[in-house]
Amino acid sequence: MQIILPSGKLADVRAITGHDETALHRDLAKQDQEAIIRLVAACAKVDGKVIDESLHAMDLLALVLAIRIESYGETAHERFKCAAVPPGSVQPCGWQGDVAVNLMDVLCAGTPQGTGEPLRAPPASYPGQVEVTLPSGTIATSEPPTLRAMRSYERLRGKAAIDYDALAVSRKVRLNGELATRESLLALSVRDRQALRIELLRFGGVDRAVEIQCPECRATTTVDFQALDDFFALTAPGR
Ligand SMILES: [Zn+2]
Repeated sequence: MQIILPSGKLADVRAITGHDETALHRDLAKQDQEAIIRLVAACAKVDGKVIDESLHAMDLLALVLAIRIESYGETAHERFKCAAVPPGSVQPCGWQGDVAVNLMDVLCAGTPQGTGEPLRAPPASYPGQVEVTLPSGTIATSEPPTLRAMRSYERLRGKAAIDYDALAVSRKVRLNGELATRESLLALSVRDRQALRIELLRFGGVDRAVEIQCPECRATTTVDFQALDDFFALTAPGR
């Protein structure tokens, strides 16, 4: 299938083969961070070319969704247990069961698609270099979250679960024009650091979260779409 990515580029996506699926599950089991990227490189062409490090994180997410839909269809399932506490109750709702999620809705954000038409991921909020004025008046610029920046972040953060200074360095943040280092970031006030963190995490496009509504209490819970039980398999392991 063909899709228009959040960046406006045209992508051709093919379905996963048995070879791709075997390699993917083997690499995911080893917690190999590059597993998904290798899959996208094998199954997608962007403007007729193999993906490169300039690929935007939003385009990568759209490609992952499109490959999933092309390979296994647009319906995914989640074995769901509702943890919401209904109003007036002290106990969590506790409903459990399989819930279906339509991934095309996530990719198209509700846009109706005619047969044979390219899918349109939402093009809004697709930043190039962004600039923000921090509370102290310092001007901070950053580069977009490309594949290059994502790989740099993985190297810099080491074993830390989340490292916002590594994120800022990987996104080539400049403070009043000066390329930021861990030291110059630590020298910022905590208010400036928080404003910078919010800016680095703020980018739109394909939403990586899907909302699951509990059929019992109607409360909604959000789940990262790549974490859905059968996102990359027709039948999830153990089913
Ligand atoms: Zn519930």
